[in-house]
Amino acid sequence: SFLMYRLISTVGLTVEMVDPHDLELELVRLGFEGHHKHKLSIDPTDVEAASLDFGGMGQAWPLAVLHPTSADDVARLVRTIYESTHGLTVSARGHGHSINGQAQTDNGVVIEMNMRPGLTSVVVGSEENSYVDVWGGELWIDVLKSTLEYGLSPKSWTDYLYLTVGGTLSNAGISGQAFHHGPQISTVYELDVVTGKGELLTCSEEQNSELYHGVLGGLGQFGIITRARIALEPAPQRVRWVRVLYSNFSAFTNDQEYLISLHGRPTSDKFDYVEGFVIVDEGLINNWRSSFFSPRNPVKISSLSSNGGVLYCLEITKNYDEYAADTVDQEVEALLKMLSFIPASVFTTDLPYVDFLDRVHKAELKLRSKGLWDVPHPWLNLFVPKSKIAEFDQGVFKGILGNKTSGPILIYPMNKNKWDDRSSVVTVDEEVFYLVALLRSALDSGEETQTLEYLKDQNRRILDFCREAEIGVKQYLPSYSTQQEWMDHFGDKWDLFLHRKMQFDPKRILAPGLRIFHPSV
Ligand code: FAD
Repeated sequence: SFLMYRLISTVGLTVEMVDPHDLELELVRLGFEGHHKHKLSIDPTDVEAASLDFGGMGQAWPLAVLHPTSADDVARLVRTIYESTHGLTVSARGHGHSINGQAQTDNGVVIEMNMRPGLTSVVVGSEENSYVDVWGGELWIDVLKSTLEYGLSPKSWTDYLYLTVGGTLSNAGISGQAFHHGPQISTVYELDVVTGKGELLTCSEEQNSELYHGVLGGLGQFGIITRARIALEPAPQRVRWVRVLYSNFSAFTNDQEYLISLHGRPTSDKFDYVEGFVIVDEGLINNWRSSFFSPRNPVKISSLSSNGGVLYCLEITKNYDEYAADTVDQEVEALLKMLSFIPASVFTTDLPYVDFLDRVHKAELKLRSKGLWDVPHPWLNLFVPKSKIAEFDQGVFKGILGNKTSGPILIYPMNKNKWDDRSSVVTVDEEVFYLVALLRSALDSGEETQTLEYLKDQNRRILDFCREAEIGVKQYLPSYSTQQEWMDHFGDKWDLFLHRKMQFDPKRILAPGLRIFHPSV
């Protein structure tokens, strides 16, 4: 096949050796002992799976796929490619939930990290120092299940748990807990990393600290995370989950900012999770209403839409244990009293901690059943400085978006002092900044505003608006096609980023799907 031919010509085999057996022998020569016959696979099903991602907007066919059973396998493959002179690349692939081909390569090997070599081990210490060691390809849902057996849980999350540890730590990993715990990368004690030279190194604040800080938020550019040691806390049993509505944007953001300013207070005096979303169309209102029903407060939401039809929903939770069920009502009431949402727009629900954390999976199953999950996702995630969020609201939520969104739009603030500036991740230069996540799905429904082209163009218009109005946004989960754009993205951090690349991946083998660097032969 063409694929095999390319693999053969790139790794220097001869064309006569198209017999898969011979190819296998050659791979053995390249350092794969062969007793795990399918470890390095050129099976079309494996190759195709590795060519796709959640974004569904681009495909790249790797030459082969590695299914490692240990960190050593990962190191051996990277070392082999590092030492060869074929200009091949390596992409670690977690759960493939990137949007723009970040985990793909069309000129090398994809390492499928998402499997369980049974590495998870929990160490229970005092309240402050319990942790779990997990394989880099572990899904967060499995990390949660393992730690709950000990009554413990990681502190900082993403909204969706079917993502791998290595995949989210390569970006930041954020959700409504980030305002007090920081992003997930702020809750990692130690990592095992295979660098672009094929060395397997342990790193932390104290040991190989440049690699440790570089890899966190490092977009897979400096190494492949094979183990992460993640901080744990006692897991609560239940979650009180509250949503309240606003039609006034500044009332909404003032309240969000007030709530995250409580991060240093005792647990009883703050919420555990602060997020929010924007509602610009009726469809979403109805949808939202049916999935989040509060019999205590019957209210006609559509009657609340004034102000160009845009509503804002603050979403907050309080964790608690069953024995403290009496006090949670009072604590929630006391906090709600401080806020200025629309009276009678309080929607409350109560559920087990796991069900709250795993909430997006429920939505996934629903969408899957309607064939609406495996569609293109032209998502755009932006960090917006607090000082410009009102201008962003005017220009985007009340402007460019019109009255159709094609998916949820999240908006919540975070405290910059919970982010470690030594990591590779880029945020904006203000003490408080917002995540705005436009999580849209493209459909072939016949409606122009739902097509991929329309949504991609709208994303471009949003970015143009931000540039012209000097909003000073930074992309989260960034994607660019030229090095100049990457240099602009990193700004002051570019020199450090480049230096780390030369140090840890001098042949620019790793994560070529980001298109930051080109491999050298
Ligand atoms: P992949 O897409 O497989 O890989 C992502 C990048 O990380 C690639 O560059 C890859 O090479 C690299 N990589 C993967 N594994 C490793 C490793 N072990 N070591 C080094 N590099 C590696 N993000 C948030 O922060 N908060 C959210 O709430 C959130 N919700 C999401 C919900 C959905 C439905 C989806 C699809 C995505 C969401 N994301 C969220 C984004 C998600 O965190 C990132 O796209 C993440 O990178 C996906 O993880 P993955 O395991 O699928 O990684």
